Amino acid sequence: MAKELYGIIGYPVKHSLSPVMQNAAFSALGMEAEYSAYEVPPAGLDAFLRGLESKKIAGLNITIPHKIAAKGYVERHGTLDENARRLGAINTIKVIDGKPNGFNTDGAGFYRSLVEDLKFAPEGRRIFILGAGGAATAIAMYLGNGPKTIAVTDIDAAKLEGLRSHYRKFYDEKRFRAVGPADAAKALSESDLLINATPVGMKESDPLPVDAAELHAGLYVYDIIYNLPATGLVKEATKKKLHAVTGLGMLLYQGVIAFEIWTGKKAPVDVMRKALREAIRSARSS
Ligand code: NAP
Repeated sequence: MAKELYGIIGYPVKHSLSPVMQNAAFSALGMEAEYSAYEVPPAGLDAFLRGLESKKIAGLNITIPHKIAAKGYVERHGTLDENARRLGAINTIKVIDGKPNGFNTDGAGFYRSLVEDLKFAPEGRRIFILGAGGAATAIAMYLGNGPKTIAVTDIDAAKLEGLRSHYRKFYDEKRFRAVGPADAAKALSESDLLINATPVGMKESDPLPVDAAELHAGLYVYDIIYNLPATGLVKEATKKKLHAVTGLGMLLYQGVIAFEIWTGKKAPVDVMRKALREAIRSARSS
């Protein structure tokens, strides 16, 4: 039997941890399947997606910078699920009867990790998101009308306004607060959960994305950065005895949900988590 082929496209993509995680899952279930990284520049995206069937690729993850353009391709040539349509971006394709079906598992992956890893249920709570880029958008659009409030701040005022106007097209606009830099500390002091959705903290030499003094008692902290076993923010929050996690769980569960969409099988979550942890540890020591 020919191997089933899966993969991730991005540009660049060679540092992606998805191949290690997904291949560990295939091998744990004894599946004849292989997941590869495909470096595809923006100009080559349509041609690559057109050739999925002839390349016998059954499922794909999509990462930066292709998530929005790939959604456009799937809209023209296949089917988009409701969550991906609302978000306006996809991170997963399943080829069914030769046609691409588009999904976005980032928001659901975040949610599952928030509830299972951080033990925080966002419904009715006050959420503060630092950053209004792609990941913050996936999170805010998945949380939707669940939280009491979602306050978002970003150094890029145009991006912040873009997320606000996108959110209000689908959800109760009174729940969403676009917060300028001068009001960010106050908004955080009134929040139950801080989500860092900026790249600040990816380098060990980075400053904290918020002042340590702003991490108040009872605050839950979700830092979506995953390239370090613990970021500066997670370390500082833990020092203050707050509940805090990195984004390893978000990365894990977006992959778990994609795996289940592609294969219809229950993903071996513990195997995938272990593979990710080991890859992060070895990338750091190399
Ligand atoms: P992005 O689209 O570039 O968005 C990040 C936003 O944060 C940008 O608008 C950026 O503004 C802003 N920003 C930077 N520093 C800031 C600060 N000090 N205060 C307020 N806003 C600030 O990036 P992304 O794709 O959303 O990714 C963000 C981070 O999430 C990355 O570290 C990425 O690795 C991580 N991530 C994790 C997962 C996961 O599965 N765990 C998934 C996706 C992304 P400028 O553009 O002006 O700098």
